[in-house]
Amino acid sequence: MKTDAFALRHIGPRETDLQQMLKTIGVDSIERLVYETLPDDIRLKAPLVLNPAMTEYEYANHIAELGSKNKVFQSYIGLGYHQAIVPAVIQRNIFENPGWYTAYTPYQAEIAQGRLEAILNFQTMVIELTGMEIANASLLDEGTAAAEAMALLFDVRSRDQKKNNVNKFFVSEELFPQTLSVLETRSAPIGVELVVGNHETFDFSAEFFGAILQYPGKFGQVYDYTAFIAKANESEIKVAVAADILSLATLTPPGEMGAAVVVGTTQRFGIPLGYGGPHAAYFATKEEFKRSMPGRIIGVTIDTDGNRALRMALQTREQHIKRDKATSNICTAQVLLSVMAGMYAVFHGPKGLKYIANKVHSLAATLSNELEKIGYDQINTAFFDTISVKADAKKVKAIAEQNQVNFYYIDEHTIAISLNETTSIADINTILSIFASANGKQASTIEILSEVHHFPEELARTSTFLQHDVFNKHHSETDLMRYIKKLERKDLSLNHSMISLGSCTMKLNAAAEMLPLSNANWNNIHPFAPLDQAQGYQEMLSKLEEQLNVITGFAGTTLQPNSGAQGEYAGLMVIRAYHQSRGDHHRNVALIPSSAHGTNPASAAMAGMKVVVTKTLENGNIDVDDLREKAIEHAADLSCLMITYPSTHGVFESAICEITQIIHDNGGQVYMDGANMNAQVGLTNPATIGADVCHLNLHKTFAIPHGGGGPGVGPICVAEHLVPFLPTNPVIPTGGENAITAISAAPWGSALVCLISYGYISMLGADGLKESTEYAILNANYIKEKLNGHYETLYSGEMGRAAHEMILECRPFKQKGIEVTDIAKRLMDYGFHAPTVSFPVAGTLMIEPTESENLEELDRFCDAMIAIRKEIEASTLEDKNNVLKNSPHTLAMLTADVWNFPYTREQAAFPLEYIAENKFWPTVRRADDAYGDRNLVCSCAPIEAYMEN
Ligand SMILES: *Cc1c(COP(=O)(O)O)cnc(C)c1O
Repeated sequence: MKTDAFALRHIGPRETDLQQMLKTIGVDSIERLVYETLPDDIRLKAPLVLNPAMTEYEYANHIAELGSKNKVFQSYIGLGYHQAIVPAVIQRNIFENPGWYTAYTPYQAEIAQGRLEAILNFQTMVIELTGMEIANASLLDEGTAAAEAMALLFDVRSRDQKKNNVNKFFVSEELFPQTLSVLETRSAPIGVELVVGNHETFDFSAEFFGAILQYPGKFGQVYDYTAFIAKANESEIKVAVAADILSLATLTPPGEMGAAVVVGTTQRFGIPLGYGGPHAAYFATKEEFKRSMPGRIIGVTIDTDGNRALRMALQTREQHIKRDKATSNICTAQVLLSVMAGMYAVFHGPKGLKYIANKVHSLAATLSNELEKIGYDQINTAFFDTISVKADAKKVKAIAEQNQVNFYYIDEHTIAISLNETTSIADINTILSIFASANGKQASTIEILSEVHHFPEELARTSTFLQHDVFNKHHSETDLMRYIKKLERKDLSLNHSMISLGSCTMKLNAAAEMLPLSNANWNNIHPFAPLDQAQGYQEMLSKLEEQLNVITGFAGTTLQPNSGAQGEYAGLMVIRAYHQSRGDHHRNVALIPSSAHGTNPASAAMAGMKVVVTKTLENGNIDVDDLREKAIEHAADLSCLMITYPSTHGVFESAICEITQIIHDNGGQVYMDGANMNAQVGLTNPATIGADVCHLNLHKTFAIPHGGGGPGVGPICVAEHLVPFLPTNPVIPTGGENAITAISAAPWGSALVCLISYGYISMLGADGLKESTEYAILNANYIKEKLNGHYETLYSGEMGRAAHEMILECRPFKQKGIEVTDIAKRLMDYGFHAPTVSFPVAGTLMIEPTESENLEELDRFCDAMIAIRKEIEASTLEDKNNVLKNSPHTLAMLTADVWNFPYTREQAAFPLEYIAENKFWPTVRRADDAYGDRNLVCSCAPIEAYMEN
């Protein structure tokens, strides 16, 4: 046996555990288990054709060598992406720390108070810098945030505007090109008409419901939008502003000008460029629009004892509830990056941010002055960090590249230069010497920066920001390190125990996969750098696309979508383009089973499709007769079926090939939601079951950490006939010959974290991938059998097996007064994060252990579940004061002088023996959702100010 094989590190159960596990399940081999789980007709006949698995050491060398093919130039390209300094204390204690990056979206608030506070800091930072009233916990990128702003403004049109179908949206020609492209994609299917033009000549006609402006403009010109926004507001046109977050430390924020929405990226707040992402976009708006706001909002509430507690607010807005009435499909966002950006503001404080903004402005001002001195014309009359210079672009480009410098070449005679936090006086001198040598002049060497402001006095920010304590006290590294640790300790992550969230695949995020992200050869490349400077990336990304093609059985892949839900939307837009290319403009019906994830109908609605829900049988399977009936009924307009496989019920339905055939027979395409791909890899694939397109959640199946709610990568893989329609990018073209416009802002989405999945696949190889799938099925079926007799598993395959996850029935416990939430909270006392609660079936738990958990951990979890089952048995309907209802138990409760509960302290907090040795303490009692929604507070103001009276 090769003891250095990565598979041995990735897969939890040891060889010696296998027999015992198989015995519990009642099969004599893994092959037999897989046979009993997966329909025979969809089994792959041959192993995946992939390169041999690398060891961790081999991969480290390989990726270092590949990274050396990336050329790290000084990039002054701008367009929303800037070189940034990641404070070392944040890099080491958050970005590289599994305590932060392996956490899940904070649905279980009581064991997530740390990241909830960090995100609240982020929201506070966004609210105050933009001058708005509320902000969310991040969006995917600036382009999609702008599209969400458009969708929100469309949604909140006045009654008259809706009646008269007022559908025009004005887009300033100063908007970044990639943002415009994302808006184009997003507007058409929902019936919004974009009108691109000059905001200075806009006529404010009643045909418009909204407008979007860029602040500062795409090549750096700073406009005063006060009059525009005032006039628009008078004309019932609501204005969104895409704003540079750093500029807002020194420029008047759009909120103070009357903007309805402010969006942008927080990348330059200490997030690496990463060749396009991941970065946290921000979205801020007014209170009155809170119910239409996309994404997640963290809010302040109280716990059972009335103490301050944080939790996700207003969840009824989300697509899980709204389904096809949703205006946004955001699920996974960019939480880890928002935590980092918020912590950057904590690290620098208001003075530090102002200092950086002023410095960047002074660099630009100095450069502008000096370039004018040597005969260049700088055409931005007001600017923050970006200047536009008239020059011979070709000549300058040649010299700049020799000096390892990138500018943005607007046209043959105009060059934009965006300066950033990393720029030094030496860099300014290099830029000057480049321009001097291009026109044969001699530039003087500068030593100090100009102090003159190059924007109108009226636009200088006068309001204060970030006055709250948290932004003003953690400025020594000792203090910040401890603050970060204090928050981390409140959160349960994979470095404490299994997080068996069904559908979310919380597997190992191996250190060997993560390490390369910290290397400048990978993280310091601008997304619009010339391709010849990103050869390492190009090679890695195309190899990853190839690997994913092999795994899915498809012909082409785009890595652009930044989440699974964005993948769904991308896939549906590709299907739409395909139908249109054949003259089938009317095909707009999407069949979606009732058990589908909420993002499915929400994405379909975003793609302009009409959702027709198909029935589920008693046994959890798709009702094939109902499906056939509806496919035939809608045959003329059928666009597609969206289907999850194995199903969200954790079963490989054997009718799958029949189902996909019915759709094809009626002119539709089959979209497979690939969230459950962890049960397929190496055993079957979407192409084999008859799908035409699928998304993959690289942050589930392919080992990208969940980050507390993002980043995600949701590539779509498509069959040959759909390849021509894969999305492009307006700056660096990508995609097929008939490409749809951009889905995300960056050409390859969140390229940096694609490294993780590339490492995962490269180190496992064909055998390791298949084995991972087999062990995922093994672990799930082991839990299923261990819990048999204690909990009923709702659905199983024809031979009684689960796929990689299973749903436990918890509804009958209501007779004992116990809700599924009580079980979820009680698990915290046992040191575990709850499985998925109430998806896809309300009142149930869905468990997915993944292949990475070992036998001891599975046993501890089963012991906890069985112990809880006994506690349920002892409960009665009238009993509101028991160990389940009062859970989770905090250290404060246990150590209080009075103990008035009808059970012992030991029963409360140490009910099983294994707990004591590694006790995890929830830091608050149950968070009160309703209270927080009635009193929405989503910034760090002290709660006393908002107490219900
Ligand atoms: C996770 C999930 C999604 C959405 O993926 P995100 O990356 O969170 O946008 C869609 N469908 C299913 C079944 C999922 O489990």
